[in-house]
Amino acid sequence: MNEKIELIKDGKRLDGRRFDEIRDISMKVGVLKKASGSAYIEWGKNKVLAGVYGPRELHPKFLQNPTRALLRCTYNLAPFSVDDRKKPGPDRRSVEISKVTAEALESVVMVERYPNTVIDVFMEVLQADAGTRCVGLTAASLALADAGIPMKDLVSACAAGKVDGEIVVDLMKEEDNYGECDLPLAVIPRKNEVVLLQMDGKLTREEFDKTYRLALNGAMKVYEMQKETLKARIEHIMGEDNGY
Ligand code: UDP
Repeated sequence: MNEKIELIKDGKRLDGRRFDEIRDISMKVGVLKKASGSAYIEWGKNKVLAGVYGPRELHPKFLQNPTRALLRCTYNLAPFSVDDRKKPGPDRRSVEISKVTAEALESVVMVERYPNTVIDVFMEVLQADAGTRCVGLTAASLALADAGIPMKDLVSACAAGKVDGEIVVDLMKEEDNYGECDLPLAVIPRKNEVVLLQMDGKLTREEFDKTYRLALNGAMKVYEMQKETLKARIEHIMGEDNGY
């Protein structure tokens, strides 16, 4: 996949988006009956499911921490989620994404409320088209909220990068593959605090500032959608005939 393709034509991207336009996103929570909390996001061609189990007692016991819960994240790219079948099971990439996701979520989840326990967060990528770590993190944060686990805020994520010399938001697969740089970002929106920032490629200082601003803007839009999704879920539950 190394031959160069034209990613920007007449000021538009391959899928017709403007440089500052994120892909279409739809979100749902409470999609899994047996999980403590769950969320499903379609973000462009990405499809990601997140499920939370816990908090529950952590085993083996020597892993327990009497001052806090262990927040354990597992990111998995399904074998059928990409063009070239992905070998099932963990690899370096999934271990890295699981780790940075846990670190990002630890900034908001009140882990000190649940000593000696584990909170398991699973992110299953069913279909991938670049930006899956941002989608996974966004879904995981919604699933934790759906599980009723106390959090200081949500975590919202979006990437931006450089494609054919232009700074654009929310890269899709072709842009990620053939572009010059991809910069995924996750924030705690209310505090404007960065909890994940990675960069694959090179940018000048000015380009970095612009890319960062675009990604932040994207994450803020995602935050609004997350809040709407949770509000709609609560209204739905309140409106249900529960026998009272
Ligand atoms: N990808 C793939 N096979 C793999 C890993 C990744 O086809 O084994 C694709 C997938 O579409 C993914 C994209 O490459 O979304 C970009 O991957 P990256 O590691 O940059 O993470 P992401 O952008 O998804 O967070």
